[in-house]
Amino acid sequence: MALVIGISALMVVAVCGSTLYQSYHQTSLSAVDNAKNVTLVAQRAISRNLEILSLSLDTLTYRYQHPLPVRDLSENRRQAYLFGGTANARHISVMAILDADGKVKASSRRRSDETSPVYADRAYFTVHRDSPDVGLYVSRPISASLGNELKVVVLSKRLARPDGSFDGVVVMALDLAYFRELFAGLALGPDGVISLYSDDGVAYMRIPYRESVIGSDLSTSDNYQRVKSMLSKDDGSFFSHSRHDGIKRLYTFRRVPNTSLLVFVGYAESAIFKDWYEALYSVLLSLAAFTVVCAVLMSSIRQEFRKRVSVETQLNALVRTDGLTGLLNRRALDELLHATWERCQRNVTSTFSLLFIDVDYFKTYNDTYGHKSGDKALQEVARAIRDNLPRNTDCAARYGGEEFVVLLDETTEDGAMLVAIRLCDAIRASRIEHQSSPLQTLTASIGVSGYRRDRHRRIEDVVNAADEALYRAKHSGRNCAHL
Ligand code: GH3
Ligand code: MG
Ligand code: MG
Repeated sequence: MALVIGISALMVVAVCGSTLYQSYHQTSLSAVDNAKNVTLVAQRAISRNLEILSLSLDTLTYRYQHPLPVRDLSENRRQAYLFGGTANARHISVMAILDADGKVKASSRRRSDETSPVYADRAYFTVHRDSPDVGLYVSRPISASLGNELKVVVLSKRLARPDGSFDGVVVMALDLAYFRELFAGLALGPDGVISLYSDDGVAYMRIPYRESVIGSDLSTSDNYQRVKSMLSKDDGSFFSHSRHDGIKRLYTFRRVPNTSLLVFVGYAESAIFKDWYEALYSVLLSLAAFTVVCAVLMSSIRQEFRKRVSVETQLNALVRTDGLTGLLNRRALDELLHATWERCQRNVTSTFSLLFIDVDYFKTYNDTYGHKSGDKALQEVARAIRDNLPRNTDCAARYGGEEFVVLLDETTEDGAMLVAIRLCDAIRASRIEHQSSPLQTLTASIGVSGYRRDRHRRIEDVVNAADEALYRAKHSGRNCAHL
């Protein structure tokens, strides 16, 4: 029963463990899917917007290279034709045309040529000067002094002469708040983040917004190293601790095609597995309750089992014990005799001896003192026999009536004779009054027989030999032992 309970408990634990593991795995998978979807949507939004901004730069390029065939066009009108409404769009701080030397040829923010700086050393300029195939270039976040300190990225495209040679760049400064607004309002759960990085580890935007993060270089961080190893695939996901707030998140990222930008979405691990942890706690609680119930059940079963074993042991002892004297009874004696006989058959060096003890004149004792006193006298005799057996391997049993048998293991006839004489003396020394006996006290006669391999074929032969010896003891006057 305890085994059944133990196995059931193990099975319950195994089933719970496997279910919990599967649901953990499933939760993790669906969180990854979810985060990937949000990343994809954000990446597509950025792609579309960059496409539109790129088209605006193309329009500017076209209009710069194809001026209106009108003479004496006012400066205002020329500006309006070149930059149209795009330059006034929200988050576009400035649009400009730089010539092949990096000087401003035209700008949506009008400046006089003399004060205008030269931008020939800027990455958004040199990249196009040095290579004709860059397409749309997105600069690192920079601080622009455009009346107020703004963090912007510069989008630039190459201007080419008809022969393909470098003729400057068209540029557009895009306020980073643009990305901030694009990402704002996305429900990413507690401690969720969405961010935009370049593939060399520079932060463009992070929601929740942190001024200090924007523009920072995280290329030395462990997370960046992880991303770097996955960049060949253009997307990926991993669990990691944030460098900024130490929170462990599931991050998924995706590259904005044809740019160096990567969109990241991070879900806090605690939020992803919140429901799973609740399920875990309730399962653990149930398991604990189940374990307690099993333990109580098993302990009561064990107690019951112990009781039963003890009752069985007692019963077993009772079945083998003589009720009046407490010695072994006839059944136990028979078993013992047979076991001893078997052992002596297997082991030729083994031997044993038997004493057959019979109380003298016991009928007259009963007649004189009554049956009850007779019982007491038998108990006294039994005690005298038990207390005077020399070895604890010696066994005394009540054969029946006022007769006892003592089995002396590994004892020769001579040794058995000595024990017999000692028992005779001990019974007499008990001084149980017996007026009808010649000695006035209760005595016993003892027949002694040792096992003889050459003579005895069965255990009964040894018993009979002892009985015969007893017979002779009786006839030689009682209160003595005969071999
Ligand atoms: P002997 O010296 O030749 O052995 O004579 P005895 O009287 O002892 O032998 P006998 O066989 O004639 O009598 C045995 C008596 O033992 C008969 C019976 O009343 C008595 N007896 C047998 N079992 C019990 C018992 O359990 N309790 C009591 N009180 N007496 C018993
Ligand atoms: Mg008798
Ligand atoms: Mg007798």
